[in-house]
Parts: sequence; structure tokens; C-alpha cells
Amino acid sequence: MAPLSKVGAFHLLELIHGPTLAFKDVALQLLGRLFGEILEQRGECLNIVAATSGDTGSAAIHGMRGIPRVKLFVTHPAGRIAPLQRLQMSTVLDDGIFNIAVTGTFDDCQKMVKDLSSDLEFKERHHIGAVNSINFARIAAQIVYYFAAYLQTPGAGRGVPAVFSVPTGNFGNILAAEYARRMGLPIGGLVLASNENRILPDFFQTGRYRRGEAKSTHSPAMDIQVASNFERYLHLRLNGDGKQVAELMNSFARDGALELPLDNMSLWRALACDNEQTVSTIAAVHQKTGRLLDPHTATAWWAMQECCDEFPTEYSRVVVATAHPAKFPDVCRLAIASEDPLLTHATLAVLPGKEERLFHLEADSEKLKEFVTRGIAQGSEGVFQNLEEKAGRHG
Ligand SMILES: *Cc1c(COP(=O)(O)O)cnc(C)c1O
Repeated sequence: MAPLSKVGAFHLLELIHGPTLAFKDVALQLLGRLFGEILEQRGECLNIVAATSGDTGSAAIHGMRGIPRVKLFVTHPAGRIAPLQRLQMSTVLDDGIFNIAVTGTFDDCQKMVKDLSSDLEFKERHHIGAVNSINFARIAAQIVYYFAAYLQTPGAGRGVPAVFSVPTGNFGNILAAEYARRMGLPIGGLVLASNENRILPDFFQTGRYRRGEAKSTHSPAMDIQVASNFERYLHLRLNGDGKQVAELMNSFARDGALELPLDNMSLWRALACDNEQTVSTIAAVHQKTGRLLDPHTATAWWAMQECCDEFPTEYSRVVVATAHPAKFPDVCRLAIASEDPLLTHATLAVLPGKEERLFHLEADSEKLKEFVTRGIAQGSEGVFQNLEEKAGRHG
């Protein structure tokens, strides 16, 4: 479901009604079912290993739960994700789902997953796969809602273009919009919104793409320096010249920077919204319209406001909402009264106090391999019961 609603001068594309209240649900709900279908046809199994800093993990878990032949192992840095984010994952007790709290950082989690995936023998023997943001099926799924959204704009019947403003981290969501445009959808402008991690706005404004330090901001799902889908954008910009893309990516890997001439005719705008602007946008939109934006959506709203005068007035202006505000109550409380009912959502309110299943591991790639091997054989229920019995015997 991707409803478009009129909010003030803009339209809001609400991709926030999935099981985890964020847009990643749209693609991962489809991906789980696709995996199930294909594995059934082939008579195979798939064991997915992933690392999350909070957001993707829960969308993946809710996409893969209940899918036959699929097991999902999600690592997260213990104590370093928001309690609500943990609960969205750890209260899923399905036998094919394993939540692993790693004593370490998100980088440790990523490294463990990477080590496991680069052990080709292990990978093959245990049918290991991934669901990360470079999986093209996720992008393909996202293309669809741009069509659905456009058809709901007032000018759709007359072919009047729409401008989309998209909060961007790994460049997946806005890349889907660009593919939709190249498929013929009348998109008259693409506004890329980022937060204080401004590598992408800097690139679109100067032509220089330069790695910096990742900063924590009010929109954590966008706290990314090197966007994993940027290479696909380069491929489009350079008309599919793979050799030139490879040269640019090599120079980026070597020097932490690459450079391209500015695309002057471009329909793209790219703007970085800082923390203060994020909070003041949430406050202003709430005051004027009664709607509460989450901090990610607020960056896109702000960016649309900044540049929408550059597009013809008859174009519809669509801001893409990527998360429900109740997922980020602390930032929203900086902008509005803390008792506002919009700060809660029924699916989140029931989580505290529910039974959780969390496995604990040290930041050690070999330990993760052992755990995955055991998990594949026993299921999460089985591993859990064995641990309980052992604890009982010793304690
Ligand atoms: C992942 C995410 C984004 C960024 O999407 P990309 O496809 O990585 O650009 C924005 N907002 C929210 C809430 C997200 O979870």
C-alpha cells in the first residue's frame, strides 16, 4: 500500500504502513516471497546472514519470517541500537529467525558477515545469501511505487510531470525513481535529500565525490558516507560505459575521491538538511498541517521546500515518507509536545514486555560460522533450548 495524501503544498507518498513502519518493508516483503517461490521450484534452501545498525534488520526479519526453506541470521551491535529497534527484531520467535547481539560495534558485525561471505567454501556448503541494499530485486520492487504514486497525482491524466523528493542513504530509493523515469514515467525533477553526511549533495553540486567521516544525526538510516548504489548511478550517467565506471570506482577506492563534470541539464537537485533544520521542519509541518513527519521524511520535505520554485508550478510535488514518526519519538519530541498521540503506534506500543529471543556472540567471525552451522541444523528454537538446558545444568 502506497497512499498519496495532500499535506500542505505537497503530496506525501506514505511508504510507512508495512509491518516495521518503514519503506524497506515494501521491497523486503516481496523479496521474502520471491525467495520462497524460487527455492520451492528448485528444491533448495537459503541461509541469509546480515548485519544491521537497526533499520534493515527488522524489515528483513519481517520479510523472511514464515518463508519455508529460508533461515535468517541478523547480527546487531549489542546495546547500541534503540530498544524499540531491538524489540522489533527480538520479539519475532519464528524458528527460522536468529537475532544475534554482538559484543562490539556495527563495523564488527559487518566485518563478521563479510568474513563469512568471503569464505567461499563455507558459503557454498551452507547455501549462504544476502539481502543487503545492493540486491537489485529490492530496487526493482521500489520502482513500482513511483508509478503507483504518479498515477495518484492530480495531473496524471494529462501527463503532467511530478517532482519527487527522496531521503537518501545508500541511494537505493532515489535510484529506483531514476529507473522509473527512464522507463517513461513523467518525472520532472528528482530531489535528493541527505543529512549532515553530505557526500552526495557535494557531488551533485561540485562534481567531486569524496569520502568523509560518518556522523551520527537525527536521521540515522541516512548516516552513510559511501552509498552502495552510487556505482549504478555512475553507470547510468556514463551511458553504460562499464570501463569508465570501473576506472572511477578504482580511483575512489585508491584516493577516497572521484570527479565527474557537472550535469547542467540535469533534473537532479541535491541538498543536505542539518539536525536543526530537521527538527524545525517537523515542528513547522506539524503546526501548519497537523501531520507529524519522521526525521528522515523531514529532510526530504525541507529539501523540496528549498528548491521547488525551480520547477514549473503545475508539476505535482511529492515528498517520499520513509518511516513512521513513532519509530523516532525522541527526535520528534524535540519538535512537538511529548504527549502527542502521533508519537505512538499500536504495533510498537505492544512490544515492551513481550518475550524476546536474543543470542549473544563475541565479535569473532569463527564463532559466527559455528553459530550459523548449528542454527541451520537445529533451528532457533532448538539452539535456544540447548542453551537453556546447558545453563540449567551448570547453574
Ligand atoms: C534506509 C532508509 C533511508 C535511505 O534509503 P536508501 O535507499 O538507502 O537511500 C531513508 N529513510 C529511512 C527511514 C530508511 O530506513
